[in-house]
Amino acid sequence: MRFLPGAEEVWAVLPEARVVGGAVRDFLAGRAVADVDFAAPLAPEVFSARLAAAGIKVVPTGIAHGTVTALVGGRGFEVTALRRDVATDGRHAVVEFTDDWEADAARRDFTINAMSMDRDGEIFDYFGGRADLLAGVVRFVGTARARIVEDYLRILRFFRFFARYGGVPDEPAVAAIRELRDGVLGLSAERVWGELKRIVAADDPRAAVRLMAETGVLGSLVPEGVDLARFEKVVALASGVDGLLRVAALLAGDVEGFGERLKLSNEEQEFLVAVRAPLGLAPGAGDEDVRRALAETPGEVLVARTYLVQDEGLGWDELRGRLRRMTRPVFPLQGRDVLEMGVAPGPAVGEVLAAVRAWWMAGGCLGGLESCKARAREMVS
Ligand code: ATP
Ligand code: MG
Repeated sequence: MRFLPGAEEVWAVLPEARVVGGAVRDFLAGRAVADVDFAAPLAPEVFSARLAAAGIKVVPTGIAHGTVTALVGGRGFEVTALRRDVATDGRHAVVEFTDDWEADAARRDFTINAMSMDRDGEIFDYFGGRADLLAGVVRFVGTARARIVEDYLRILRFFRFFARYGGVPDEPAVAAIRELRDGVLGLSAERVWGELKRIVAADDPRAAVRLMAETGVLGSLVPEGVDLARFEKVVALASGVDGLLRVAALLAGDVEGFGERLKLSNEEQEFLVAVRAPLGLAPGAGDEDVRRALAETPGEVLVARTYLVQDEGLGWDELRGRLRRMTRPVFPLQGRDVLEMGVAPGPAVGEVLAAVRAWWMAGGCLGGLESCKARAREMVS
């Protein structure tokens, strides 16, 4: 079975291993397969030793949980021993290694994620995942309620996969999520933010986010409130744009509180705040206004803002075209130019620069170094 470059080399050493989880799902769905994960009905020391003996580099990524990463041709393949759950407490599972494929599949979250495929391409589907994938149903393996209580992250994982593969919401899953929604409040900020980003990054996450709102999950995660209409508008307008812009569209209230609570990176936080600031331009704006805006704010931030404020009117694409095409004006005068005019080092330099910049902006950011110097000289003389 040709799968991804490198997979065959893992299989050559571990012929009894199977590809599991997302790779099987995406392969059957005809989607690009990102990571290929293997499971093996062997003890971790046994398959690690076999891989190493074949000259494959083995990184002990999560050896306590039975996972190593095999490096083949610049790619990493996770290989994990089959496991069965012994106990779970809503966050951590106690597992034991097994050679029972069905037991390993039973601890996976959704039927579409619980399939495995062997070296000959045979699919092992213990819980009807293939039919669910075709029907667009994200169904828990076992009882939704029980599986959520074992691990509340599964509420968000449900929406991640529903956003990507879902058509019809699975009623028992939705009912259990509605009942247990506050379980997401106990999850770490990193995990919540990681899942939220993946949810909104789906090609069309609108139905999933609507369902998150309907079940109350979104309200638990974002008590500041959301603007579903703006979110849906931005998804429709800007397919394939940065997921962070979609988040900016979704958040109705204070983005800083949200960013702090979910521990966004500084870069993410700054982007959210920047795109939520007023655009200050409208379709039909003159080039002078566009240049002024570009002098103050990077073009990509301005473009992102247009999506948030775009209304039914015409001309938005034209405005975005100009924002992308026009080069960003750079104020040419520098502190040393002002010092050369005899201004003493200190606050006066900044004052001259600010005043000349204001004049330069008022003129549509067209002045070059010489005209800015001339203006500065007039001011200091
Ligand atoms: P993606 O393409 O988004 O990475 P994936 O299926 O690979 O999708 P991962 O989060 O990488 O998703 O997890 C890999 C597999 O591990 C899943 O397909 C699922 O079988 C299992 N799994 C991961 N997290 C959980 C969980 N919290 N509960 C149960 N099973 C899980
Ligand atoms: Mg994965």
